Amino acid sequence: MEQMLTMMIVDDRAIDRAILRGIFLSEYNIVEAGDGDEALKLLRSGVHVDIILLDIFMPKMNGFDFLRTIKKEVAFKDIAVVVNSEELDEENEVEALELGADDFITKPYNQRIVRKRISNVVNKVIYTQFKMSHQIDELKFVTQRDILTGLYNRESFYKEAREFIIKSSEKCIIAVWNVDRFKVVNELFGSRLGDQVLRNIAHQLIDLLKDKGICTRTEADSFVFCTTKEYLETLMPKIDRILTGQDHRSPIDYTLQLHMGIYEVNDPDMPVYLMCDRADMALQTIKDSYLVRSAYYSEKLKEDILNEQELVIEMEQALAKREFFVVFQPIVETKTGRTSSAEALIRWKHPVKGTINPGIFVPLCEKNGFIAILDLFVCEEVCKFQREQLNRGVKIVPISINISRINFYRTEFSAKIKELLDRYDLEPSAIKLEITEGAYQDNPKYMAEAIKDFKESSFQILMDDFGSGYSSLNMLKDFNVDILKIDMKFIDDLETSERADNILYSIIQMARALNMGTVAEGVETRAQYELLASMGCDCIQGYYFSKPITKEEFTARLEFERERNYVPELPDVRRTILIVDDQKIDRQIITHMMKDEYHVLEATNGEEAFELLKNNFKSISLIIADIHMPKMNGLALLEKMAEYLYLKEIPVIMITSSGEKECEEQALTRGALEIITKPYDSSLVRKRIGNVLKLSESGNMMRQIQRLRDQNTELPTGRTL
Ligand code: C2E
Ligand code: MG
Ligand code: MG
Repeated sequence: MEQMLTMMIVDDRAIDRAILRGIFLSEYNIVEAGDGDEALKLLRSGVHVDIILLDIFMPKMNGFDFLRTIKKEVAFKDIAVVVNSEELDEENEVEALELGADDFITKPYNQRIVRKRISNVVNKVIYTQFKMSHQIDELKFVTQRDILTGLYNRESFYKEAREFIIKSSEKCIIAVWNVDRFKVVNELFGSRLGDQVLRNIAHQLIDLLKDKGICTRTEADSFVFCTTKEYLETLMPKIDRILTGQDHRSPIDYTLQLHMGIYEVNDPDMPVYLMCDRADMALQTIKDSYLVRSAYYSEKLKEDILNEQELVIEMEQALAKREFFVVFQPIVETKTGRTSSAEALIRWKHPVKGTINPGIFVPLCEKNGFIAILDLFVCEEVCKFQREQLNRGVKIVPISINISRINFYRTEFSAKIKELLDRYDLEPSAIKLEITEGAYQDNPKYMAEAIKDFKESSFQILMDDFGSGYSSLNMLKDFNVDILKIDMKFIDDLETSERADNILYSIIQMARALNMGTVAEGVETRAQYELLASMGCDCIQGYYFSKPITKEEFTARLEFERERNYVPELPDVRRTILIVDDQKIDRQIITHMMKDEYHVLEATNGEEAFELLKNNFKSISLIIADIHMPKMNGLALLEKMAEYLYLKEIPVIMITSSGEKECEEQALTRGALEIITKPYDSSLVRKRIGNVLKLSESGNMMRQIQRLRDQNTELPTGRTL
């Protein structure tokens, strides 16, 4: 392993630092400080140092004070220190030695002597430094220690941990730490800094445990320690800070985070390596979680893992025994309410465990490679189904198939899909392919290529679970998918988060701008459906319309829609007018005019109107608002609406009094579509309202309104009725 030690030169004279740097540059990483104070700050900021060359006479903090300070700090007390000074008299020498210096060099420096002395110290001290707080001899050190960190190596840890557990009168624990994405650290900063990061973690562990526990590094970025349960609990606040990257002494500009798995020792006779395995199992369950940083091993966990293993063993047999089957979940078009496609979802009818959902076994299949067979099985079932439908002479709807990220990039997989289509004499349009957004993280380049290949073969691609992962909207520009499937998470959030609707609306609009269709997943209530429909989402999938159903049920559903020429009951989208005016009589005039055709809501000021809008916006076709009102006037209401993406699209007609040209201009500039003036001329008012409503309810409402808005800013103002 490439391993250069770090030397810190502490001297107030730049020339002296330069000389020493010149001597040691090729052998050490050099860090420099102009006085004791600066040196201390560097150490405390996490810079890892193996040897310090220390001047005695310096401003701010002299060498003695510095030495005194670092020897009191656990993290630094084992660093080798060589004192250098112009004149070291006996008294100073004794003092330096008493304070823990390892050797001296004097100025002017003689290169050969300086090198020799430092190398002696390094040989002698660096290894004893690794002994940390434990007293062991040189030979033992080499055989019992991890050279990089100085911690116990795995074998001696097992032995020491066993003794610790047996001697302890309290309940003990074994905990495993693993650094998140340590590979990235090495890749970004190089293995030398990566090594330092690991040494720092080792130091942190030693600082935490003191003499109340022991620790080891088992693999590259895995640390294991043993202590008492009670002591671990007292350490938890500190450990939490380390795990979440709030307290790490790092030589790199990177937030290092860790996960921890813990095993409580119930049977002290169990081999320590088994205890470590169990702590590791607990860690594996949270490895990918951002929020959960530590987990305890439990019997339930063990059972789950055994169950998983059982399933893995049974999988292949299950396919032969035809225990897998496919269900179909209808996808409904919002505009027509009819089933426009479906998603094929796999199920496992286990003879003992009952029906198992793919959330359980698909990840296992991805691990053992069985997913290649399983996805093709689903594909074939879908092809068979479509062929049966065509043979019966009915029109088919496309069915989407989930393609695991493992299969998506494999060219032989796409060849097999094409083979299946050929065998069942189907067009690529009979199916659609879903790939989960998470795959983007694996390898964006491969994913883009795979999407391109599939599209060249005329397949439609859906991006599944959009918005569930870490990927950004930006990724959409790299991926030319046909349809976005918006993750259920957003739908769940609609009820609790004010921002969720804004985000959802932006996604739908953005998909439109990019010529992509949208499917919202996990829609369970009518309210969610209506909201999504009014936001312009193309299709809906979710329990509100149907759970996943068998192929017979699905066929029946399609037949029902076909035969009865089924016209579903659709929500009454935007058939309400909101009138906002503080004058009751003026509200009554317009209400009277509109009430036959529209449901009319009334508000006496902008504030009241805004509350009504937020709860009813999906059904409101038009707002007619007076410009002069108490609390929130018409202009302020327009401004408030503009902050909400889904409100600013609702057309507004502003009411002014005749002769208020300036007000009219302001209203039009802020987005009002029309102006009507008091006192009302009923036939003109009717026409103006009628025009705006026609426009707002026509198919491409959004675009037209936008165009009109753009024009409005240039319209001559001051029109009166
Ligand atoms: P997915 O592709 O996102 O599928 C949607 C999941 O949401 C399905 O779960 C479906 O039953 C569920 N769902 C649909 N509507 C609602 C709703 O209104 N509320 C709630 N709470 N859930 C709803 P399922 O069938 O358990 O599938 C889970 C995941 O397993 C799928 O997520 C997909 O990623 C994977 N999967 C399913 N079948 C296959 C397959 O054949 N191959 C592969 N590779 N993965 C599959
Ligand atoms: Mg899916
Ligand atoms: Mg999904």
